[in-house]
Amino acid sequence: FDQSHIRNFSIIAHIDHGKSTLADRLLEKCDAVPQREMENQLLDNMDLERERGITIKSRAVHLFYKAKDGEIYALNLIDTPGHVDFNYEVSRSLAACEGAVLVVDATQGVEAQTLANTYLALDHDLEILPVFNKIDLPAADPLKAKQEVEDIIGLPALDAPEISAKNGVNIDAVLEDIVAGVPAPSGDPNAPLQALVFDSQYDPYVGVVVYFRIRQGTLRRGQTIRLMATGAQYTILECGYLKPLGNEPTDALQAGEVGYFTASIKTVKDTQVGDTVTDAENPASEPLPGYRPAQSMVYCGIYTEDGSKYPDLRDALEKLQLNDASLTFEPESSVALGFGFRCGFLGMLHMEIIQERLEREFNLDLVTTLPSVIYHVYKTDGTLVKVDNPHNYPDPAVIEHAEEPYVKVSIITPNEYVGNIMPMCQDRRGEFKDMQYLDTHLVELHYQMPLNEIIYDFFDTLKANTKGYASLDYELSGYRPSDLVKVDLLLNGDGVDALSFIAHKDKAYPRARRLCEKLKDNIPRQLFEVPIQAAIGGRIIARETVKAMRKDVLAKCYGGDITRKKKLLEKQKEGKKKMRNLGTVQVPTEAFMAVLKLD
Ligand code: GDP
Ligand code: MG
Repeated sequence: FDQSHIRNFSIIAHIDHGKSTLADRLLEKCDAVPQREMENQLLDNMDLERERGITIKSRAVHLFYKAKDGEIYALNLIDTPGHVDFNYEVSRSLAACEGAVLVVDATQGVEAQTLANTYLALDHDLEILPVFNKIDLPAADPLKAKQEVEDIIGLPALDAPEISAKNGVNIDAVLEDIVAGVPAPSGDPNAPLQALVFDSQYDPYVGVVVYFRIRQGTLRRGQTIRLMATGAQYTILECGYLKPLGNEPTDALQAGEVGYFTASIKTVKDTQVGDTVTDAENPASEPLPGYRPAQSMVYCGIYTEDGSKYPDLRDALEKLQLNDASLTFEPESSVALGFGFRCGFLGMLHMEIIQERLEREFNLDLVTTLPSVIYHVYKTDGTLVKVDNPHNYPDPAVIEHAEEPYVKVSIITPNEYVGNIMPMCQDRRGEFKDMQYLDTHLVELHYQMPLNEIIYDFFDTLKANTKGYASLDYELSGYRPSDLVKVDLLLNGDGVDALSFIAHKDKAYPRARRLCEKLKDNIPRQLFEVPIQAAIGGRIIARETVKAMRKDVLAKCYGGDITRKKKLLEKQKEGKKKMRNLGTVQVPTEAFMAVLKLD
């Protein structure tokens, strides 16, 4: 296909502004999918993505559009994930494009991700084409939204299409804008191959399917290629175009094109997002810029409720990892929970997604420990220990100082909520940086905050305090010294490793007290009195007691109803199975879960 007739673009938006719905309409308009096979949100393949209405992985499709000028154009639409956890994937997808359609919900106007994604797109020198969506809704105010885009982002927007992606209104105008506004790709098809990997996906039949955009050179079937960052080398078995229903193999793809290849690759680890594919014999002198290995921000322990399912959990994690190079795990064991894995995630959403998939797709009942960030502990002997599990926190006697990760937080909100937001940031040890008026009523606040303070419930609390209007974005900004302590939980004098946590010293006491109270409410009475204590080092900082009670389930069964007795005994047995022995104390798994969902 002639380069001048190719358009590579992405759709960017704040979450829920209609990106996936617009993608569906574009596919329809380009007859990429027969009507009867059209499902909503075709690009969001995973059940979970459809349910949650978010794109988790990037997707791409190859479309043909017959424009009003009578010419046929090849459009490569690259859909990007819509959550702050996946910002790096978004950046690689954008690097594969020349333009971006910026969807703005005309009932909401500009929100945090609208801005953040626009800045990302501008970083990649993309041409940005705004469109204003949801004009079918009575609350839509496209003119106001346009004014916001002009004032806040500085993009001309007054003539931009006003559409209803849901009802298919004005979709042609978007396609014409793409043809006219997105620059055609360039790049020498005869130069040494440089192709950017923007996504990859494991398929049990053909191995990893690698999605790429060719910057220069040609990629062909039978060619031996090398991935420049990982050094992995493969022979291409199949390459072609990405179609929504089954891919379309071809012999070769050239500079400017977007496509896929397979090469019997066993793991996505070899084909990291952001890596450069080159020819093994005639390699490019340099990889494409911007590669960075995936980095976990949040860790937690994952265990199965039924200890015998441990091998199933390992298999499941291995399977998920085939498709997700940013998921890390290694075995760990806990006295309280048995054998499990310490898993690393890009963020809390990523963590929830993985937990949900383990439970749904692999039928596992999980127990997870409190999420933790990585703390840097400098010891008196000059060594640095990176602690992602409270269990491994060094003895305070050998700690010189400790540091915790900070993030740069950006919150965009209507100004009437600033008074609610500031105290909640302060409460979470946020350090106010600045506040800017984006227009007469929209404000952007910047804070430096400990990552630890925002991973639990910050986002939900922010939404609750602003009637859902504020939006949040954050990025890691580095490590800072911090007064950290490790808090241990003791049941009947025995430490429960799975309940230890690391916290800033000002936060340790209230948190420990709540944990003790919650344990007290959830631990059934035992035959003896059970003290619940929280301790820092040897010092007890909180205490509760579960009173003793003699419990005889048959006590109330006078006389001879044997079936009822049996039932009760069975019920008790059933209950026992789900108990965990924590030292001398039996704790039902549910109690454990309730306590771990503390925040
Ligand atoms: P994304 O998060 O940007 O991909 O947004 P989606 O495409 O998933 O849309 C979010 C929600 O807005 C869904 O419930 C859509 O049905 C709805 N939606 C999208 N476009 C329109 C539109 O033009 N009009 C109306 N009324 N709803 C829309
Ligand atoms: Mg979506």
